[in-house]
Amino acid sequence: MTVAKGKSVAVIGGGIQGLCVSLALAQRGCKIDLFEENACLISEASLWNEGKIHLGFVFGNDSTSRTAAFLMKGSLRFNELLSHWSGGTLTESEISTPFRYAVHRDSLLSPEQVDAHFSSIQSLIEHYDEDQRRAYFGFSDRRIFRRLDDTETARDFDTDRVAAVFETGERSVDPQAVARRLTQAVMAEAGITVLLGQRVDSCVQDDKGTPSISLTADPGQRHSYDAVVNATWRDRLRLDATFGWKPDRPWLFRYKVALHTESLCDTDDPRLPSTTFVLGPYGAIVNFGKGRYYLSWYPTGCIASTQALVPSNPLLGLCDSARAKLESDIIKGLAQLVPACADLDLRAAQTKLGGGQIFAWGQGDIDDPQSQLHQRFDIGPRSAGRYHSVDTGKYCMAPLFAEQIAEGICPKS
Ligand SMILES: Cc1cc2nc3c(=O)[nH]c(=O)nc-3n(C[C@H](O)[C@H](O)[C@H](O)COP(=O)(O)OP(=O)(O)OC[C@H]3O[C@@H](n4cnc5c(N)ncnc54)[C@H](O)[C@@H]3O)c2cc1C
Repeated sequence: MTVAKGKSVAVIGGGIQGLCVSLALAQRGCKIDLFEENACLISEASLWNEGKIHLGFVFGNDSTSRTAAFLMKGSLRFNELLSHWSGGTLTESEISTPFRYAVHRDSLLSPEQVDAHFSSIQSLIEHYDEDQRRAYFGFSDRRIFRRLDDTETARDFDTDRVAAVFETGERSVDPQAVARRLTQAVMAEAGITVLLGQRVDSCVQDDKGTPSISLTADPGQRHSYDAVVNATWRDRLRLDATFGWKPDRPWLFRYKVALHTESLCDTDDPRLPSTTFVLGPYGAIVNFGKGRYYLSWYPTGCIASTQALVPSNPLLGLCDSARAKLESDIIKGLAQLVPACADLDLRAAQTKLGGGQIFAWGQGDIDDPQSQLHQRFDIGPRSAGRYHSVDTGKYCMAPLFAEQIAEGICPKS
């Protein structure tokens, strides 16, 4: 069911998904109440993620290529929609250097299998015309990947552990920069009322199909809207359950931490290109230039996992020494594969350790080739009447899903 322009919508969750939905709806004339439990917008997964705008390279264990095709569709729209809502394109300093993919010798896929997967991504992207490809941060080369030769590989990587390296056209955006842009846009939008420190407790629908929510601070009081959007990510299953929806298959929450650095070195260190290590429990280096890095190491950085309906935050209450150990373990892990990482002096840099929940359908872990975690095409909005619940799945998909939700609630035509 759709509602006419000017009607009221409650958007629950102030991460990238909630902000994009709010902006998309406000620009269609809806009046939005945006509820966020924390004291500020975009402070969880949407701030602490790697910002990779996936073209599908990392999903090589989905032999159907459905994940790559699905994510590519959202990623090719990311920049355009974000620019439209926030009133400007991302600058070069807000985008990472292009990613390399380094194939670990213990990888679930051999370099030849990775090569074959990358070739299928090449075919997928060729279905898009040049303008659509250019919308992906100006990408214009015909080839989207190239395997480095042995000399190039040995220059930056420990070849006892790294079997092959590919350079690609894939990029990350700086989630902190995106957070600033989206927050400013939301605050400037007259049709959006931001309600911080407000935890939504439940959502129900009455006999006439009108949805209403209650707040934890005032559980007896119900607030009715023409439509409600659940964009709470870590709390989504619980809120869905209050609406009467139960998950129909297993799921997993994993809490992953990463390190943001500022001014780790004065200039760009050419030995630290943006790199994702595949395929298994490894990590990533994201280089935003001028000593700004995002560094992660899965074996020590994935600090909790649960199949509970509501995951807890394992970073809360962690003492300083435990945090410092997490930071140095990230560097040590990466230095096994990229020796230059060992030269990074965290004491000389401003560092921030943070993390967020990763929700995915399936169980097992990423070192299990059978795990459904290697597939991410079964994500996006699900609706019943005027209640909409969105499994963002991936940061890169949030703008496209926001457009889809807005079109469902308030069609343009
Ligand atoms: C370490 C890490 C790396 C990642 N890397 C990538 C990547 O490179 N590329 C990619 O595409 N994806 C990546 N992801 C996934 C991506 O971060 C998420 O898919 C995305 O950020 C989810 O956005 P969201 O807005 O749905 O959730 P969030 O950003 O978590 O926002 C949800 C908000 O809802 C609020 N909330 C929760 N419950 C309630 C409630 N009951 N009432 C009110 N407010 C509530 C929360 O406080 C939160 O602010 C990564 C995730 C992590 C953790």
